[in-house]
Amino acid sequence: QARLMWPLLGLMRVALDLQTSQALFARIFEYVDLRPAIADAPNAHPANAAKLGRIEFDDVVFAYPDAGADARPTLKGVSFAIEPGQFAAFVGPSGAGKTTVSYLIPRFHDVTSGRILFAGDDVRELEQESLVANIGIVSQETYLFHATIAENLRYAKPGASDEELVFAAQAANIHDTIVSFPDGYDTVVGERGYRLSGGEKQRIAIARVLLKDPRVLILDEATSSLDSISERVVQDALDTASAGRTTIAIAHRLSTIVSADVIFVVDGGRIVERGSHAELAAAGGVYAGLYREQVSSAGA
Ligand code: ADP
Ligand code: MG
Repeated sequence: QARLMWPLLGLMRVALDLQTSQALFARIFEYVDLRPAIADAPNAHPANAAKLGRIEFDDVVFAYPDAGADARPTLKGVSFAIEPGQFAAFVGPSGAGKTTVSYLIPRFHDVTSGRILFAGDDVRELEQESLVANIGIVSQETYLFHATIAENLRYAKPGASDEELVFAAQAANIHDTIVSFPDGYDTVVGERGYRLSGGEKQRIAIARVLLKDPRVLILDEATSSLDSISERVVQDALDTASAGRTTIAIAHRLSTIVSADVIFVVDGGRIVERGSHAELAAAGGVYAGLYREQVSSAGA
């Protein structure tokens, strides 16, 4: 029993550090039951600091390990490269494989074939600690622990000063809200704690990721469960958070990604279109269709 604790605690750290959703958190634990955690290679090394922020998929095929031997792969040969500091967007229908792409970057799973390069090296050659340290995720559903807001924030940076917490919370548009709570930063949240709105939780998640200050930020439909007013506030916080780092935004609403350096349209486990908004809108393909649909429904 005791022997099992350390790897589990290690995974909890991974989960916390990655701003993971409750669902993903649960999935990580299920995954432990199915198979031991992916172990570092014997000669694993940290990511190359000179190339941090570069991500490349090279003909990645991926089938979920629990999907059965005869299951069709979820990703069927995905290739792309994102340069340091770029803002890349992934769009496409539900079930296309966008979240799966985001799971493979921190090596939650290993590819079936092909390879994933992080800062120029195959993720299987890297220390997972280094991947975790350099990647932050804000997803649709934020997991907050039954602990104070200050403690929830410090999961991202143990030992952060009060000033650092306030600075991150201000940048995430949540400081004023926190100080309006009865116990301020000492307000206990999470299960059976002080009830926060979806937008407040998301902004705490963003403050957490700002404290962590990762070189790669993954935003997986981070605003899709919010009403349009909190969406606006959270989107502003996300724009602040993505400045100066490689950002991968999985977008529900296309209006948030029109200025992306590159947009990848995913459908059925493949990238079916890629380019800037202007290029894709002019191409008259899948993206142009999605965009026209959203513009007309927004105008209605
Ligand atoms: P998207 O984010 O584009 O909506 P996902 O990457 O979540 O798509 O899912 C792609 C496909 O992979 C879906 O068919 C989904 O059912 C499947 N899938 C997702 N997670 C798992 C899992 N843990 N095990 C098996 N199949 C999964
Ligand atoms: Mg998804």
